[in-house]
Amino acid sequence: MSGELILGIDLGTTNSAVGAVESGFPILLADEEGKRITPSAVWFGPDGGVEVGRKALRRRSGDPGRVVTSVKRLMGRRHGEEREFCVPMERAPDGSGGIRVLGRSPEEVSAEILKELKRIAEMRLERPAHKAVITVPAYFNDAQRAATKRAGELAGLEVVRILSEPTAAALAYGLDKLGERSRVAVYDLGGGTFDLSILEMQDGVFQVLSTRGDTRLGGDDLDAALARSVAAAHGIDFDTLDAGAHVRLIEEAERVKCRLSDEDSATFRAPFYDGSRSLEAEIPRGDFEARLKPYLDRTITCCRQALSDAGLKPEDLQAVILVGGSTRIPAVRRAVAEFFGREPDLSQHPDEAVALGATIQAGVLGGTLRQMVLLDVTPLSLGIETFGGLMNILIPRNTTIPCKAGEMFTNAAAGQASMRVRVLQGEREMARDNWELGKFEVPFEPAPKGQARVGVQFRIDENGILEVLARDVKTGTDTVVEIRNSAVDVDDEAVGKMVGESVDFAFEDMAERIFTEARLKAEELLPAVEMALASAGDLVQAPERQEIESAALEVRAALAAGQPNPLKAAVQRLDTATEALAAALVEKAMEAAMDRRLG
Ligand code: AMP
Repeated sequence: MSGELILGIDLGTTNSAVGAVESGFPILLADEEGKRITPSAVWFGPDGGVEVGRKALRRRSGDPGRVVTSVKRLMGRRHGEEREFCVPMERAPDGSGGIRVLGRSPEEVSAEILKELKRIAEMRLERPAHKAVITVPAYFNDAQRAATKRAGELAGLEVVRILSEPTAAALAYGLDKLGERSRVAVYDLGGGTFDLSILEMQDGVFQVLSTRGDTRLGGDDLDAALARSVAAAHGIDFDTLDAGAHVRLIEEAERVKCRLSDEDSATFRAPFYDGSRSLEAEIPRGDFEARLKPYLDRTITCCRQALSDAGLKPEDLQAVILVGGSTRIPAVRRAVAEFFGREPDLSQHPDEAVALGATIQAGVLGGTLRQMVLLDVTPLSLGIETFGGLMNILIPRNTTIPCKAGEMFTNAAAGQASMRVRVLQGEREMARDNWELGKFEVPFEPAPKGQARVGVQFRIDENGILEVLARDVKTGTDTVVEIRNSAVDVDDEAVGKMVGESVDFAFEDMAERIFTEARLKAEELLPAVEMALASAGDLVQAPERQEIESAALEVRAALAAGQPNPLKAAVQRLDTATEALAAALVEKAMEAAMDRRLG
C-alpha cells in the first residue's frame, strides 16, 4: 500500500522513541546500537558540539552541568513556574518571560532530541522524513502543545497531529477494537511523571474523560530514594556528596531497581563513587518495595480521583493498561490490579506503547495503514438484483478483502438492448430488502431472450472501494463503475440490524425466493407447454396429455394461490410430465431438419 511517510514520535520526559509504518506494519526504529528507546538527554559541549541520548548520558557523571534532562517539564512554561531543574534556568533575554537553559529555549533543546529521532528514522528507512505525529500528556495546555509543535518545526518536521499519550497507548493496545462506549484506564508511570487517564471510545475516537497525575513522581524518584537509603545504611551523607558522586549512586540505584523487577535480590556496586570510596550492598526486593510504598500510594490516590472525576467505578471499565517503564515493577502491577479489581493488560511493552500508538495514528493519517474503523472483511454480502427482484450474491458476508468475484447474466426479454445493474448490500433474499449501493445501465447487442451474455465482476480493493465491471461478452465492451458508498465502512449497528433481520425473516424470505424462482420457471414453462401440446398431434397419447394438462392446471392454481412449496412441486410435476413430449418434439424437429437437408 503506498502512502506518505509520517513518523510517530513519543517525546517523553525521560525517554523518547520513533516509529513508522513499514510494509503495512507499525514498527519502532532502532538506533545504531539496536536500541529503540532514546534517553531524552542532550549534552551541549563548550564549543558548540551537541550529543543526544545515551551519548549525552555518558557525559553526565563527568560533565553534569552541560547535560539537559527532562526538558519536557519546561515546555510552554514561563520563567519562575519551575523551581528546580538539572541545570540553572535563566530568563529569556527577549522579555517574553520564557526560560533559557544553557542559552537555549526548551523548544530548541527538544528539537535536538527530535532531530536525533528523525536521523534514526531516516537512517533505518533510507529516505527523508518531513512529517510527524508527536504525543503529549493529556494534561498539556495549549502553550505546551504549541511549544511541542514548534520544537518539531525547528527539527525540520511538520507536526501533522499532536496526539495525547493515553490515546496513543490505547491505540497501541488495540483498545479501539473494544467497541463504542468502552472505557479504559491508562496508568502511566514513567521516569519523571505519573498520570492516570480515563478514556471513552466514542464515534471511533477516544475522548479523555478525566486525567490526574503528578508531574514530580516517577522512576527517578525511586532511584533517588533507593540511592539515599543505601547511602544512609552505610553512613554516607547523600546531601553533602558532589554532583558527580550523586550521579554515580543514582545511576547504580536505577540499574539495581530494574534488576529487582526480575529478581528477588540484586547487588548495589559503586566503586570509587566519590573518587576514593566504594560501596557494595545486597538489596532484597522487599527492601526496595518498602521504599516504593509511599510513591505507589500517591499514584493510587490519583486513580481514585480520576475515576471520581469521570463519575465511574472500577467495575465500569473494560480494560486497564500500563504505560511507562516503571510499570515493569511487579509491586506497581499488583497495586494497580488490586485497586481496579482486574489484571492490567500486559500485551505491549509499556515503554514502547505510546510511540507505537503515535506510529499507528501516523500510518492512518499517511494512508499507509488502513483506517482503524475499516474492517478487513466485508461486513455484509454484496450482490446484484436479478430476475424477479431476487438478490444474487457475488461476494458473501465476511469475505476477506481485497477480493473479487464474478458471474454471467443474460437478458430476460428478446430484443432487450441494455441491462440495469443494481448493486446491493445485505443478507435478505429479496433485492428490495437490501441496501442499494448504486445502479447503472449496461448496453449490449440485442439478442433473443436468454442469449445475450453479460459478465458482472465485483472487485474490492484494500481500501474497501468496490468497483463493478460489466462486460458484454459478445462485443467485449466494458462498463466500469466505482461505487462511492463504501462497501466495508458500515457501522456495526446497521450490520447487526441487517443480520438480525435476515435471521428474523429467514422463513418468509426463503418462501419468497422459492416462490419467485418457481414463478419464473412457470411463466417460461406454461406457454411452451401450450405450444407443444398444440403442435404435438399424435406424438402424445391421451393419458400423457391428461397428465400434462392436469399438471399445468395445478401450476396455475398454485400461482394464483401464491403458495411457494406447492408451486415448486407443481412446476416440478409439469416439468417431469412434459419430459417425454419435449424429447419427442426435439426428435421430430431433428428429423425434419435431416429431411430438409437430404431432400
Ligand atoms: P519511561 O519514561 O516510560 O521511558 O520510563 C522510564 C523509567 O522506567 C525509568 O525511571 C526507568 O528506570 C524505569 N524502568 C525501565 N525499565 C524498568 C524495569 N525493568 N524495572 C523498573 N523500572 C524500569
